[in-house]
Amino acid sequence: MDNEKIELDALAVFSHPDDAELTASGTMLKLKSLGYRTGVLDMTRGEMGTRGTPEVRAEEAREAARILQLDARLNLEQPDGHVWLTEEARRAMVRVIRTHKPKVIFTAHWDDPHPDHAATARIVREAARLASMRRYDEESGLDAVKMPSVAHAVFSRLIVPSFIIDVSDFVEEKMRAIQAHASQFYRADSEEPQTRISEKGFLQQIEWRMRYYGSLIGAAAGEAFYVREALNVADPVQLLTRPMNIYS
Ligand SMILES: [Zn+2]
Repeated sequence: MDNEKIELDALAVFSHPDDAELTASGTMLKLKSLGYRTGVLDMTRGEMGTRGTPEVRAEEAREAARILQLDARLNLEQPDGHVWLTEEARRAMVRVIRTHKPKVIFTAHWDDPHPDHAATARIVREAARLASMRRYDEESGLDAVKMPSVAHAVFSRLIVPSFIIDVSDFVEEKMRAIQAHASQFYRADSEEPQTRISEKGFLQQIEWRMRYYGSLIGAAAGEAFYVREALNVADPVQLLTRPMNIYS
């Protein structure tokens, strides 16, 4: 995958190599089917994970990228378990934004209980703004860009979504992309230590979660997002006459 300089329409930025798959991969598959160029940036190599090695996890991430038909899979090589809002992390993220020029970034929510996830959301928000400032990190030689929009995945907290994407047509591929991270999830023959996400019922819960958010818009499956800013709607009639569930 030659992803050195490719320009992207949408970039999913999450902390660990399976987070984007678990959270927003139905949306990435849908965007790909609509003709957009998509990418995933993992903040870390997941080296602090209880199961799997960095090498195994990198191979799994490549396989998942293939299933998701990503145009780029990037890694910021921040220390797993120690992702933090530092100047180094902001600058590295600004360079990614200026190089790949995503119009929309999907990321975690800043109130996520996992410190890496919360810090990732903050780094993305600050870097999105800084990437538009001409004088910031001038020494990189990269031009400032228009500030990308940031949408936070509704995953770890009960937050009212700003919108839900109908991903009904992509459930199977999403689950295949998740299962590409085989070291992390349930396998009867695995001798690695048990974690929260390697319990037998975890992947079932992921699917139920998609089914639940789908039910809120009258669809078979959905992924929910929160946008901090007010949404600029061109045609409220067109928007508000799309199928909804009045019991959501
Ligand atoms: Zn994670």
